[in-house]
Amino acid sequence: MTTYTGKCHCGQTQWEATLEKEQQGHILCHCNTCKALSGSTSTLNQIIPKKNLKITKGEDGLKVYTYCGDSGKPVDCFYCPNCTSHVYHHQAVMGPDTIILRTALLADGLREFVPQAEIFGKDMLGWEKEVAGERKVFSVMPPS
Ligand SMILES: [Zn+2]
Ligand SMILES: [Zn+2]
Repeated sequence: MTTYTGKCHCGQTQWEATLEKEQQGHILCHCNTCKALSGSTSTLNQIIPKKNLKITKGEDGLKVYTYCGDSGKPVDCFYCPNCTSHVYHHQAVMGPDTIILRTALLADGLREFVPQAEIFGKDMLGWEKEVAGERKVFSVMPPS
């Protein structure tokens, strides 16, 4: 287990995430919602237990944007109200104890982590290259 620190763009929100060895990597999400929310081709994420994320600054100020996920259940996106950086998401379909952390905002994680898998490959743009390796790119989600 290693603890990584993260912060939003403006620094108003800061956090610590403790990750198991197998969680120390990026899961790229190519879905169209991630494109709209990030203004980019994909987002970098990891699925972790909620208890392993500690917001050390600005927790009370976090805002929530909720949309209806593919599951038909709500997805809550927690973001800094000042700069709009998304800290983490919670999908109701995953249960109350699991969250999706944005690994691009972890100071060391951003550069140290490598792509572990890519999801929503069906929404990849024609010119995008697979970076996690052919067998780790899933059309939507990995089979569970
Ligand atoms: Zn901020
Ligand atoms: Zn996505």
